[in-house]
This record gives sequence, C-alpha cells and structure tokens, in this order.
Amino acid sequence: MACRAHLSRHIHGALRKEKYYLPNFNGEEFLVNDPSTGEILSTVKSASTEDVNFAIADADTAFRSGVWSRLPPIARSKVLSNLARILEERIPDLAVIETRQTGRTIHEMKAQLGRLPEWLDYFAALLRTTQAFVAPTQGSLLNYVQRVPLGVVAQITPFNHPLLIAVKKMAPALAAGNSVIVKPSELAPLTVLEFAGMAKEAGVPPGVLHILPGYGPGTGIEIVKHPLIRKVDVTASTQTGRAIGSVVGSNIVAYTAELGGKAPIIIFSDADLVAAVNGTAFASFIASGQTCVSGARILIQDRIYDKFLARFLEKVDTIRRGMGNPLNPKSSMGTVISSHHLQRMEGMVKRTNGTILRGGEPMSGTSDLDGFDFSKGSFFPPTVITNISVEDELWKEEIFGPVVVIKRFSDEAEGICLANHCKYGLGAGIWTSDLSRAHRVAAEIEAGICWVNTHHRNDPSSPWGGMKGSGIGRENGIESLESYSQSKSIIINTARAEVSREMDDWFGSTEGRRYG
Ligand code: NAD
Repeated sequence: MACRAHLSRHIHGALRKEKYYLPNFNGEEFLVNDPSTGEILSTVKSASTEDVNFAIADADTAFRSGVWSRLPPIARSKVLSNLARILEERIPDLAVIETRQTGRTIHEMKAQLGRLPEWLDYFAALLRTTQAFVAPTQGSLLNYVQRVPLGVVAQITPFNHPLLIAVKKMAPALAAGNSVIVKPSELAPLTVLEFAGMAKEAGVPPGVLHILPGYGPGTGIEIVKHPLIRKVDVTASTQTGRAIGSVVGSNIVAYTAELGGKAPIIIFSDADLVAAVNGTAFASFIASGQTCVSGARILIQDRIYDKFLARFLEKVDTIRRGMGNPLNPKSSMGTVISSHHLQRMEGMVKRTNGTILRGGEPMSGTSDLDGFDFSKGSFFPPTVITNISVEDELWKEEIFGPVVVIKRFSDEAEGICLANHCKYGLGAGIWTSDLSRAHRVAAEIEAGICWVNTHHRNDPSSPWGGMKGSGIGRENGIESLESYSQSKSIIINTARAEVSREMDDWFGSTEGRRYG
C-alpha cells in the first residue's frame, strides 16, 4: 500500500533522528514498545544513581554560575521563543514517535503537539511583562520584592501525554531561571529525550536541562530524594504522588502534584443533545480514555436518559468501527499503553456488577477500517456500563482506559451529589443550556477544572490542577511561574547617616524605641 510505505519511511526517519539524542547512561536497560504491534522501538539505558548525582551536581553548578538563573528575563524569553520555533518544525516527526510509543492516533498526536509551542511562547511573553513590586513599608525603609528561582527542580512525568506534560512543566521552570531535571515515563520517554537536543539548539546553556530516563522506583526516587532538589513537580497516579510526597515532605521542598481523576459529566435535560453526545464521547474516549480528566462517570438526567443513551451508543459504535492502525490519519481511537495495563483494565471490567452494554474485552481480529491486526496490540474497545453502584470499583477507582460508567439522576441536587461522591476532584463537565444553572452547578462541583458545554480545553494561561485526591498546586498561568520562584524582600534604609546611626543604635538610648 503506497500510503503505508510512505508512513514507514517517515517513522524510520523520525526514529533514526531520535536515536541521535539517546544519551549514554549507565543504569539498567529498558525497552520502549509500540503498543499497537508489540514491536520494540528503542532500547534505552536508564540513569543510574551515579548519573543522577552527576546530573544534579552539574545542574546545581550551572544554577550557581548564573549562566541562566541570573540572565535578564528578556534574554531567557528569547531562548524560549527560539525553542518554540524549533519545536514547531519538529512536530511532524515528533507526532509519529509519540503515536508509536503511546499507541495513540496520529490525528490526536498532531493536534496535541501542534499546540505545544504556545506554552513556550506564553512563558516567554510573561517574562517580558512580569514586574517586581515595592511593599508599603513605613518610614525610611524601601522594600522591593523580587522573584528569584528556586535552584535545581525535578519533574516526573507520565506516559499518557509524554511531551505535552513535560513541556507544560519545563516552560515555567526554565522561564523562572531554574535548572531542570526531567524524568519521563519509562513507557514513553522518546519525545522528551528528543527535546533535550532542541533545547540545546535553542540556546539553553549546558547543565540547565537534563532529561534522565529510567524507572520510577529507581531513577525517579533517586532524583526526588536528592538533597539539592528544591522542588518536585510530578504528574502521576495518586499512589505515586503519595509515595513521592512523603520524601518531599521530609526534605522540606516545594511540591506540585497533578494526580489521578474520575471526572463526572453531568448532562441536564435542557442540554443540546447532539453537542452533549459528541462532547461526552470526546471527553471519554480521546487518548483511549487515558487522560486524567477523562469523562469516566456519566450522569444523565432522567428525562433524557433513554434518548441520550441510544445516541451515545450509536457514537460508541462509530468509534469502534473506526479503529485501526494508529498511524492511519482516519483511525478513531488507538491502544492503551501496554498489555499489562490491558489486563488490569480487563480485570476491573470483569469484576463489575454493572451491565456492560458495549465493549468490555480486549480486541482481536482485524480492523474494518484498514485491515490492521488488533491481536498483537493492546486494543480495548470503547466500553459502556450502566446500572452501576457507587460502591463499585469502577465508580470509585481510576481505570485509565476507554471505559465509562453511566448513572441517572433526577434533579440538580442529586446530580451534584453524585458528581462529588468521589475521592478525586480534577476535571468535571456540565452540559446545560440554562446559564444560571451552569454557574450554580459549577460553583458546587469539587473539581479544579470545570467545563460547561465542552471538555478537555487546556491553555497555557488556564490554571490546571486538582482538589481532594487529585493533587496539590497548579500548572499553567502566572501561578505556575510563581510556583517555580520564591519572593525575596530587599529592604534598604534610605535615611541619612545621622538618622541611621540613631535608628539602629538599639543598645544606646532606649527612649521611644520601636522595633520593626
Ligand atoms: P505512574 O504513577 O505510574 O508514573 C508516573 C511517573 O512517575 C513515571 O515517570 C514513573 O516512572 C514515576 N514514578 C513512579 N513511581 C515513582 C516513585 N516511587 N518515585 C519517583 N517516581 C515514580 O503514572 P502513569 O501510569 O505514567 O500515568 C497515569 C497517571 O497519571 C494517572 O493516574 C493519571 O490520572 C495521572 N495523570 C494526571 C494528570 C493531571 O494533570 N492531574 C495528567 C496526566 C496523567
């Protein structure tokens, strides 16, 4: 097939370039597989304890030298803008690598990566506009407040949006002047490793950015516990966030944790039905449901329950029929990340007491779309389960796959109560055409991100993060730039010398003396 031959040349080109950037570490080797075929894409050497110690010491030396940390913000801004342009040019290649290492469709990966330069441009722009302030202190004291970088910071990232999440974290950290250590997921490290070469080309000085591949409990924890690390920023499961949090807590360093979710989608009877069906399918099945804000718990108001469900199932069938080679631009949905994850999901679905209306088992056979062989890959069809209890594991726990549970509700209060009946609080969706209700319900939902009549919208300026078990801290926006810096008060006594002599002569005359 001409199209397939072209794709394969493209993939090999992309991967050949990627190998150029594979650094030579000394730890154990691990394999990166294509989850759609099981094929080995790359053998990566993980960073050993010595590699971690070396990289962090190097990052600290770079930080203390001021080569990046003390550059005027406008100079850092220019480098980030260069980096945005270099990244832009590499997107076609990177999208192929991303598809191959995650099994997500090429259509999704092009759309996602196409937006990444915006993060670098946004923080480059903030550097040109952020201003210091003067505190309103009294008397002859002039107190100006600067934001200064933290030092060497660690970023631990997951497999599901490999480059997106890394860039979301690296952009503010670099903008603020820190030295940055990134540990990408062992399941999908290739595009993040590529990024190191681009950063160098853009003018990020040596030592300022290190990408250290490896396993979490090995390389990851070695980085996190290192005494020179001043902040840890992790995107991971809640379990991982808790394990890292206990180390971070005892080292007394800053912590941002973007963790798991089980987003509710509340569909009111006054919603535009077509928009709600399309939007819910998008919420639930993009990335094969492997997003932290995936619409995993669908709540439908009684009056439209049957109608919505019938239309939703039609949509699910269309998605299922459209599945094929993830590299096919027409493919609707890709794989989940690994056969291990596939089995975990299958187990959870088998244990449910709910009614499985669609899907429920790993896929085999060939694709209706393009004849692709599903049997070697980790394909799980879009799965819909009703009659679910709030005690069911599938209601309570993150499955991180294309599996939704559906429940009906009668009125607003019940909808809100069900939505909040969850240990997580990351994303939520509300579908209604009643403006007052939209505001009222959004105010009541316990989630850090609440979409109304849309889902999955993300922007460098829009705060992103969770409540409850979904984490602490926020990505994006001015808040994230601030979280990568600390304030420093500089207090200057502007009094004349004769006044100063008297003012700080604490042990001289005590008459009328005031402290502070
Ligand atoms: P994971 O927890 O298995 O791994 C994430 C990263 O943490 C990997 O790099 C891993 O190697 C590392 N890690 C694991 N244990 C570690 C340890 N003890 N010390 C140091 N590092 C360790 O998560 P995953 O399967 O890659 O990603 C899926 C999870 O991430 C889901 O729970 C999802 O909800 C969450 N997630 C959250 C957001 C968000 O914005 N809140 C976004 C994407 C994904």
